[in-house]
Amino acid sequence: MNNLQKIDPKISQLIQKEAERQKRGLNLIPSENFVSPAVSEALASVCTNKYAEGYPDQRYYSGNQYIDEIEKLAQKRAQKLFRAEHVNVQPYSGSPANLAVYLALAQPGDTILGMSLTHGGHLTHGHQVNLSGKLFNFIQYKVNPQTQRINYQEIEELAQKHRPRIIVSGATAYPRIINFEKIHQISQKVKAVSMADISHIAGLVATQNHPSPLPFTDVVTTTTHKTLRGPRGALIMCKKQYATSIDRMIFPGMQGGPHENNIAAIAVALQEASTPAFQKYSRQIIKNSQALAQALQKQGIKLVTNGTDNHLLLIDLRPHQIKGKEAENLLEKAKIYVNKNTIPYDPQSPLNPSGVRLGTPALTTQGFREKEMKKIGEIIALLLNHPFDQKVLEKTQKQVKKIIKIHAS
Ligand SMILES: *Cc1c(COP(=O)(O)O)cnc(C)c1O
Repeated sequence: MNNLQKIDPKISQLIQKEAERQKRGLNLIPSENFVSPAVSEALASVCTNKYAEGYPDQRYYSGNQYIDEIEKLAQKRAQKLFRAEHVNVQPYSGSPANLAVYLALAQPGDTILGMSLTHGGHLTHGHQVNLSGKLFNFIQYKVNPQTQRINYQEIEELAQKHRPRIIVSGATAYPRIINFEKIHQISQKVKAVSMADISHIAGLVATQNHPSPLPFTDVVTTTTHKTLRGPRGALIMCKKQYATSIDRMIFPGMQGGPHENNIAAIAVALQEASTPAFQKYSRQIIKNSQALAQALQKQGIKLVTNGTDNHLLLIDLRPHQIKGKEAENLLEKAKIYVNKNTIPYDPQSPLNPSGVRLGTPALTTQGFREKEMKKIGEIIALLLNHPFDQKVLEKTQKQVKKIIKIHAS
């Protein structure tokens, strides 16, 4: 960072402060992670200087012999890790990847089935404020109000009634295993394309710690920067028959030059994700998440679906004096980072919803285990149960400092 300090001390200082913040707090945001130094190096490499519009061996610029090798390696590694027939590694991020699939396989105005945002689905699964919801006639499925779990029967009924072109599965705030096979079977019955968005759980899927939607699902999208622990970016994996339309929609349909430095770093992350160490990491994410859930429940905290099968959990704040926004702020005062989130059938507005979402991928990367997760669960419960008690806040601030100090050594 020596050059940066000299040329732009302001940005340099802010980056340093951000690095300190990341070190001095407990990151329980389930969509975040810490990339390895190897991934960082590839990301900061000279590959950022290169224009490579097109695909390997069919570029619009000269000088791409090494870039082609890099992109082909990224494709090959993703194919092997996820058992995909075809992979596109160029999407700039998860949101454009999803939009590209919709535009490649449906026409604006066509019907698509997706999970409602307030029930765990992603903004790009058809929410009205998102381009997905504006361009297409999205029908949204919800979870069962009693069990708070995906209601596969409702998906089938909606599919029979609306005959969608695509059925989207996958979620951003759902703590349980998703039965991708069942959703694919429903898609086949109504002759829809099945699409699974595994952005949150890609690392768990890659290591068989969550059932994979591959190879049977028609199209699978994922971000690379969540449990997969790579740089920001996305993959689209699909059956051969959809490859040409999807590739053409990414380029030249939606994007120009691919971010080859990101693609190089994605290749590195995919290599890391295929090691026994990552396998162990992935299992530990779930063990930690379940230890955290148990510790919270022991202190009387209510969880959506009463627990978790994956890397995340949702606290139901309805019995508490504070709601999502205040809880997020309160925990931040103790340097515990979480995010406010709606819960199914939320009586509150999305600006101050009845839940907070917590996850263990980042802390697990830092080496935290069940013992620390139990302690962290107790601290969070104490804060949520005594939100206006200054003494409790001071006590928990000290406890968090201590956990981080022990762990940093
Ligand atoms: C994070 C996420 C996305 C979007 O990814 P961005 O890279 O933020 O655009 C899409 N779908 C799901 C399910 C996600 O969790």
